[in-house]
Amino acid sequence: MPRPRKASDPPTWPEPCGRCAEHHQIAVRWPDGGICGYCYQQAKRTRGTCACGHEGVLPGRVDTLPACRSCSGVQLNIDCIGCGREDELHSGNRCWSCILAATVDRLLSPPDNQPPSPALRAVATALKSMKRANSGMTWIQQPHVTAFLQQLAAAPVITHARLDELPASRTREYVRGLLVEHNALPRRDELCARFSDWSEQALERVTSQKNRDIIRRYIRWHHQRRMNQMGEVTQGTFLRAKQSVTVAIELLNWLTERDTELAELTQAHLDRWQAEGPTTRGIASRFLDWATRTSLIDPSLKLQPHRRGTSPRLDAAAQAELVHNLSHTTDINPRDRAAAILVLVFGQQVSDIVQLTWDDVTVTEDLVTVTFGAVEIALTPPLDEPWRELAATPTHHQTAAHPNSNWVFRGGSPGRHIQASTLTHRLSKAFSSRAARLGTLHELTKLAPVAIIAEALGYSPATIDRHALASSANYMEYMSALSTHQSEAGVRSAP
Ligand SMILES: [Zn+2]
Ligand SMILES: [Zn+2]
Ligand SMILES: [Zn+2]
Repeated sequence: MPRPRKASDPPTWPEPCGRCAEHHQIAVRWPDGGICGYCYQQAKRTRGTCACGHEGVLPGRVDTLPACRSCSGVQLNIDCIGCGREDELHSGNRCWSCILAATVDRLLSPPDNQPPSPALRAVATALKSMKRANSGMTWIQQPHVTAFLQQLAAAPVITHARLDELPASRTREYVRGLLVEHNALPRRDELCARFSDWSEQALERVTSQKNRDIIRRYIRWHHQRRMNQMGEVTQGTFLRAKQSVTVAIELLNWLTERDTELAELTQAHLDRWQAEGPTTRGIASRFLDWATRTSLIDPSLKLQPHRRGTSPRLDAAAQAELVHNLSHTTDINPRDRAAAILVLVFGQQVSDIVQLTWDDVTVTEDLVTVTFGAVEIALTPPLDEPWRELAATPTHHQTAAHPNSNWVFRGGSPGRHIQASTLTHRLSKAFSSRAARLGTLHELTKLAPVAIIAEALGYSPATIDRHALASSANYMEYMSALSTHQSEAGVRSAP
């Protein structure tokens, strides 16, 4: 970028510049005359191929055309000792690009001499290859940019969610763009693309051509349109859309089996359909709302609201305390907290939990639901918090070892879920703080069978029994409630 020039000043500088003929301070004397500071700067930055065939910096002039040093006789140090190329030098006989590269490496080196992650290396490569290294240096030396890059280097992994935690800035979005460009992060609309692929396959499951057109319109004009408007599709939206379409297809196929068109749908159909199947059929109300708005069905038709198979067994205060304990136990990550809540609050078995996939989880604005076979567990705030955290990490399914894994609790071996014994070990370690243990155990015995707690936390059943006795009244109450509940909903309990 040429600097704005001062006005030509003949009284102060009587000698005109050999190149621009204006009167400025002469910076250097070259074969084609005294060269002013402006033309000198420009000469150092003039690149191209000389008439002799030399490619590089062409600071001199031969017959008014730019020429290399040997053709023009210009003396100028433009030999970088870093990269060996001809270029304008910044300092220490190194060119701007080499200085930029060194600066990038310094700012992006992780603490404790850890090797930089692939994502970090991708950012570094991108920043180093900025076309205008001098503008790059100006940009990178701004304090807020320097600070941002240092924060980025200290992050253990770079994900969209991690970037979102850093202060919002143009720098952040610029770096996000670089990461995506260099395949170090998925595009934000990646879920949109995945939904589109998924939809194509889902449409094949629709058994009548007419209904397939309806579902296609539902996908296009309801779900995809909303996704496009959102700009950024979250895991929750993605899963919810998949579930809505799946249930809508089930309903339409059920009608087809009964030779019924959607337009002929009656309340009796809906009641029967809902009564015959799992509670998740209530989700079809989303499709029916759309069908009503688009005048495909009678607006008076209504499904029973989506019923929940299970509700939390602790009262609100006990839940809050438990979750507080869960979140304040050192080193317990959202994945383990999510598992712990299913064990501790809902008495689910670790061996079932490890087999959960994201298809079993639905995240909506107000609720997270987790489905175990026919039982659906509704997680209300604050129990939903670790699940939301997991679902909001769009790369949770994308590690090198698990490129397309759908497991919620993926394991150490590529493509496999975590082993029940490993999760049990992790949970029992996480609950090693004695205070948290005792407080929680006491509560737990009121709500989960001894064997389950023992299994989940690695205690002996005898220890749990002592706590159970201490709160035996509640425990007996729970056990009788559980057996009633089991016969209704088929909840599994310990043998
Ligand atoms: Zn000049
Ligand atoms: Zn030449
Ligand atoms: Zn260099």
